[in-house]
Amino acid sequence: MIEIADGIFVRRHAELDLTLGLVTGAGESLLVDSGMDFALAREVRPSRIVLTHNHFDHVLATEAFLPCEVWAHEGCVVDESLLEDRAKHYDEPFEGTLVAPTHTFRDTVTLDVGGRRVDLHHFGPAHTSHDVVVHVPDAGVVFAGDLVEQGAPAQAGPDATPSNWRHVLDLLLELEPRIVVPGHGDPVDARFVREMAIPEAT
Ligand SMILES: [Zn+2]
Repeated sequence: MIEIADGIFVRRHAELDLTLGLVTGAGESLLVDSGMDFALAREVRPSRIVLTHNHFDHVLATEAFLPCEVWAHEGCVVDESLLEDRAKHYDEPFEGTLVAPTHTFRDTVTLDVGGRRVDLHHFGPAHTSHDVVVHVPDAGVVFAGDLVEQGAPAQAGPDATPSNWRHVLDLLLELEPRIVVPGHGDPVDARFVREMAIPEAT
């Protein structure tokens, strides 16, 4: 865990260059994406998880952190199709249980994480139909999920809406972030987001 702002951490994973986030308040914490690493749950006991979107690499370890609230956009479906997608990348089967979100929202919701304000936003479809942007206003930190990738181009799969992607990033930039944490790669700044290439549909 690397502290990128007061009480805000990122955990970088060699596997898929995945990046998870942790926002801490007084006696509570919020994990941004559960990832695929069950071992992390031995170090971190979050009171809430936010899933930025339903791609398998961001959500499969959720069960390791229970009991906790699992937040996502209302369009975030966690079902067997994730495992079919995972099977394209890994030979051995997933040994675990899929966990659906317990708390959902549509446009925006504000959470209190141990006295710290955390806003969840959905700015419309882009990487998926249900991308969540996590904003910690007191630190100027935004977790962008896979709307932003560093070290590799952003990815647009069959569930992406590339035509709306720039608009979504513009709304993200209106939050005036000091640090933007991507779903894969190292934290970046607003300029990186402004200048990044939008992927084409595949
Ligand atoms: Zn993704």
